Amino acid sequence: MSMPHDPNCLFCKIAGKKIPSKVVFEDEEFFAFHDIAPWAPVHFLIIPKAHIVSMAHIGPEHEGLMGRLMALVPKLAAQEGCNPYPEGGFRLVTNTGKEGGQEVHHMHFHVMGGTRPWLRG
Ligand code: 5GP
Ligand code: ZN
Repeated sequence: MSMPHDPNCLFCKIAGKKIPSKVVFEDEEFFAFHDIAPWAPVHFLIIPKAHIVSMAHIGPEHEGLMGRLMALVPKLAAQEGCNPYPEGGFRLVTNTGKEGGQEVHHMHFHVMGGTRPWLRG
């Protein structure tokens, strides 16, 4: 369920810059970009560049990758303007599968923050 990239996948195309996005961060493993329909003043997505379909596809072989992804979250949240903890903070959301509300089937973490009220969430 993990392949370098899927030519039909929207987020593979975004990570490959075949579809433009507002880039937040990029390295060899990860790509982060603003959500096109933000719910909150800060709303960006972090994805592995590798095409991993969902959190349901994560196993022991992904422990290192997932650890590095988690370590990026607070750094990028601060960079993008989330207010400091504890008065500020952020929400980290990963929708998984149909019942989990996943619309794009390339695993991604939503990072949402900023001064409330928000549109949703
Ligand atoms: P999901 O519902 O799968 O957790 O979230 C998919 C997210 O991707 C949605 O919040 C949606 O706004 C965002 N999205 C969908 N298409 C695009 C796009 O073409 N560009 C960007 N930047 N975000 C997108
Ligand atoms: Zn993909």
